[in-house]
Amino acid sequence: MWKTTVTTRMLTCISLACLLLGCNKELPLPSPQVSIDPMLQPYVNRFVADAASVGRTIDITNLIVQFAPDLGSDSLGETVGDCMVQYYEGNVYGTPTILIDRPFFEGTDEWSRHTVMYHEMGHCVLFRVHRFDWLSIYGPDLVEHSIAASIMWPYVIASADAQMFENYYISEMFQ
Ligand SMILES: [Zn+2]
Repeated sequence: MWKTTVTTRMLTCISLACLLLGCNKELPLPSPQVSIDPMLQPYVNRFVADAASVGRTIDITNLIVQFAPDLGSDSLGETVGDCMVQYYEGNVYGTPTILIDRPFFEGTDEWSRHTVMYHEMGHCVLFRVHRFDWLSIYGPDLVEHSIAASIMWPYVIASADAQMFENYYISEMFQ
């Protein structure tokens, strides 16, 4: 379908966390941290601003966003972005981490960069899961379009759809 795909491994590393903690609740959790690659910072800022535009306040207090030289592939195809979240006893453990495939990012258009970052922040900031449904919607061109109902669809949204239906996708993301 699309040449590239976005996949996410929401890792539930309970046993690892248990190992790290020694299952001793007296040990402190790792401190929250924010570390964002300067090239990717504008997309994080836009995510926060888009949320504010529909009345949702988002404070980025615990997030790592960085490039990976090559994320490889999985069963869905080429992986261009990834979000890793670890949980311990139902709570987020450590710092949610987004990895963006650098060759993809450098070789694609601005709307695809935007939607991949948006998708991964949907996982790593809002803790959203994938959404697989489609909907029919009229665009500003007065034509009915069939589009993925969310940027949380597990593939890269077509740039033309992301652009034409930007307002819809913003409200869907932060509803
Ligand atoms: Zn995903």
